[in-house]
Amino acid sequence: MKREGMLVIISGPSGSGKGTVVKELVKQDCFALSVSATTRAPRPGEVEGIHYYFYDKQTFENMKQQNELLEWAEFCGNYYGTPKKYVLKQMAEQKNVILEIEVQGALQIKKIYPDCILIFMIPPNAKELQKRLTERGTEDKQTIDRRMNRAIEEMEFIPQYDYIVINDTVEKAAKAIDSIVKAESMKSSRNLEIKQQFKGEILC
Ligand code: 5GP
Repeated sequence: MKREGMLVIISGPSGSGKGTVVKELVKQDCFALSVSATTRAPRPGEVEGIHYYFYDKQTFENMKQQNELLEWAEFCGNYYGTPKKYVLKQMAEQKNVILEIEVQGALQIKKIYPDCILIFMIPPNAKELQKRLTERGTEDKQTIDRRMNRAIEEMEFIPQYDYIVINDTVEKAAKAIDSIVKAESMKSSRNLEIKQQFKGEILC
């Protein structure tokens, strides 16, 4: 039985460890990771096409205009967006696609694909968040403060998410997301064709 893959959206404050958890998940064959486009400058160690597609503002605007993005948003002064083509292709090939995106983009996608799974990831506490952002050592003090404030704003959107996962350890958080996705795949609303198939088999 051919069924499209699911869209799994993971949001959460910058520094919540989403990226590390997602890396753990995509080790499994059933998950594909969408690589976003951004106008933000690469951080040390970030690789074009693996962590992001790094574009200038004009190129990003062109992608928006040509309807090449599934969603896009401005976050702390930079644009971020999900290239559409890859996501649709992976879903058609029955892969579950993971999008690691912020809340505005997540809610745009929920409107187009109400079946998508919205997961909000948080660190165990606010102190840990500040610690992770500081220890990452990739942002200056002003950017860290901006991202902490943004974290407070983003928390307001939690009620619009389907699930909340506390990122205590990477393994536990990845397991929790895997369980969510497995349970979602068994929802009756996603499997209505089974009834028809059974009926057909009984009747012939
Ligand atoms: P960072 O600059 O730390 O890599 O990402 C900043 C924020 O942008 C994070 O919350 C991240 O999840 C989000 N983000 C990354 N890619 C996308 C995207 O394609 N669309 C949207 N809406 N947000 C994204």
